[in-house]
Amino acid sequence: MAVAALRDNYVWMLRRGETAVAVDPGEDAPVRHWLERHALRLTGIAVTHHHADHTGGVDGLAPLLAPGGFVATSGGARFAGDRLARAGETLRFPGGVSLEVLAVPGHTRDHLAYRTDDGHLFPGDTLFRLGCGRLFEGTPAEMVESLARLRALDPGTAVHPAHEYTAANLAFALDLEPMNDALLRLREEVLALCRRGLPTLPVPLGEERALNPFLRLEDPAIRRVVRARAGLEMPDPVAIFATLRSWKDRFVAQVEGPRAPPRGGPT
Ligand SMILES: [Zn+2]
Repeated sequence: MAVAALRDNYVWMLRRGETAVAVDPGEDAPVRHWLERHALRLTGIAVTHHHADHTGGVDGLAPLLAPGGFVATSGGARFAGDRLARAGETLRFPGGVSLEVLAVPGHTRDHLAYRTDDGHLFPGDTLFRLGCGRLFEGTPAEMVESLARLRALDPGTAVHPAHEYTAANLAFALDLEPMNDALLRLREEVLALCRRGLPTLPVPLGEERALNPFLRLEDPAIRRVVRARAGLEMPDPVAIFATLRSWKDRFVAQVEGPRAPPRGGPT
């Protein structure tokens, strides 16, 4: 379940029975309203990294936590009564939600991803639909390794990024590959969802592996584009990634979106 927050953030709510865990609450009010509307108890908060648009709601929601509930943090930001989540461990929240912790540095040094045992992935700002996070603190090599870690998960994994950036990312992907039929087909679907204010997420990892340029560093089609535009051969996936990332940083998407869904609306 996505709860829209701020301008284009999603707070993902994992529901089990009468309980729910919030991933990356950038604000507290929309989450509180959602919990009230669904008559659910909050049993946990999982934070992927320290940026304010992922943590701004934690202090306001923490008093609502049911007994035994806790805030799992990546360490870059700390909260009263929190718990440091460590890569490789599985967090067990009261009510039944459990999350495996993966370390995915690159966007920030402290960045974590969380995964449920039934195939839902919450990569925060590491992996977006058709894109990836900017490098604020980490290196291209770290980000390539982090993305490879996520790419290697089961292709049926449902990816739930923290932002609605799909339309802008699709514009960049099509700028790289204007003749990619799969991307062209996707454009109609994505723009229709954005026009209606609906999320384009989650997305199956298998689709991202086939279409997201940042997950296709070994793909001959992407390598051809980079060679042609950069004017030199780049055998190293890290160099390809750094080149793509620098182009994306400068790319201004001419799109109608991204548009966040109505604030606080469960979708
Ligand atoms: Zn961030």
